[in-house]
Amino acid sequence: MKTIIEPFRIKSVEPIYFTTETQRQQKLKEVGSNLFGLKGDDVIIDLLTDSGTSAMSAKQWAGIMEGDESYAGSRSFYRFEAMVKKITGLQYVIPTHQGRAAEKILFSIIGGEGVIIPNNTHFDTTRANIEFSGAKAIDLLNAQGKIPDLIAYFKGNMDTAKLDAFLLENASKVPLVMLTITNNSGGGQPVAMQNIKDVKAICDKYQKPLFLDACRFAENAYFIKTREAGYENKSILEICQEMFSYADGMTMSAKKDALVNIGGFLALNNTELAQKCRNVLVVTEGFPTYGGLAGRDLEAIAQGLEEILDENYLQYRIRTIEYLGDKLVKAGVPLILPTGGHAVYLDASKFCPHIPSHEFPGQAIACALYLKGGIRACEIGSVMFGKTDENGEPIAPDLELVRLAIPRRVYTQSHIDYVAEVIIEVYEEREKLKGYKITHEPPMLRHFTAEFEEIA
Ligand SMILES: *Cc1c(COP(=O)(O)O)cnc(C)c1O
Repeated sequence: MKTIIEPFRIKSVEPIYFTTETQRQQKLKEVGSNLFGLKGDDVIIDLLTDSGTSAMSAKQWAGIMEGDESYAGSRSFYRFEAMVKKITGLQYVIPTHQGRAAEKILFSIIGGEGVIIPNNTHFDTTRANIEFSGAKAIDLLNAQGKIPDLIAYFKGNMDTAKLDAFLLENASKVPLVMLTITNNSGGGQPVAMQNIKDVKAICDKYQKPLFLDACRFAENAYFIKTREAGYENKSILEICQEMFSYADGMTMSAKKDALVNIGGFLALNNTELAQKCRNVLVVTEGFPTYGGLAGRDLEAIAQGLEEILDENYLQYRIRTIEYLGDKLVKAGVPLILPTGGHAVYLDASKFCPHIPSHEFPGQAIACALYLKGGIRACEIGSVMFGKTDENGEPIAPDLELVRLAIPRRVYTQSHIDYVAEVIIEVYEEREKLKGYKITHEPPMLRHFTAEFEEIA
């Protein structure tokens, strides 16, 4: 059959509250045109993030009731631990309250002054935790991954020649190498099995462990199955097991591919490092059999990790993103191509060439999508990465993007059709869009709380 259907039926629903364009104009004004300030109920389709926004299954909700809340030795921990070991083969499994807590523990031990951590592209919390420890984070993404509309299969790959050259110079400063699958900050683009193998071989040459930032490991495995020769007949579980067989450790936000609303973990093979991590865990998160979570959360993660391996689910998931991308491409809307695993990224500088970077073209589009159709997207451009030079002049980031992240199992095809219709209408009237200026900004992470005004 040509039609790919949602591989679930809906048992429990929550209402969407509708607003008019006039009401949305008022609401946007009240929050200084910052979409992070909006109440969830004032949004019709919320595509701000795919993190922690998944719909849990009936079995996950049943698991919530089944959760064992024993302080030590909870049955739910052992189920969770067994599931992580089955997929990853890693020996020590350390639960945390979310992905950044796993990063914080790891880098507080192996980071520090003089240390450098290479990655294909560090996610912002990873970079922040590395830099907070005093260490440096560097990105070694392959050249294809930097060209927004270049069609290539594995635009998340690490540049292995660069990694080799980097380690030749700096090996003594590098405690481990990371690889983010899929590459969230680079458009959700996948990393090939061959690239994971090649990175591992380079790590072996310099005797460095390889850690995966594995938040979207199952989406990455589906891309390997459908795009990389030799994997078409392997199961998703087999592909995941092979990916993790090259890893010495991993950090994970369960809010992505474990289909839960909160949770994360760290898993690794090195006994001494695992012991050190657990020592920090006890101080900052909790006892090793619950980390920062309740027993019921561990139960829901274990169940989510089973469900994420379902190929029908992954086919529907990846197709949803591609389906939205296809509709937009047909209407001429500029995007990052091919579409990645969890989001569609609009190319705001091509969408609005008349708005210069320092007038925030991504912000203008994100506000227009909200006004036109109540859609909440996320600006990833000069607002988020806004830096200024020594004279206070703005430095333009590499790309001006608007991310439409799709929550897992939450929206149906007609919701996606609606999103496409709204974006296309905004695109058709793009000449009318005006730039924005910032009227108030905090000293750090300004995108969350800055206030804006449209330039008249
Ligand atoms: C979300 C994410 C994290 C951080 O996880 P949180 O659960 O949000 O703390 C780290 N790396 C990547 C690639 C992510 O997408």
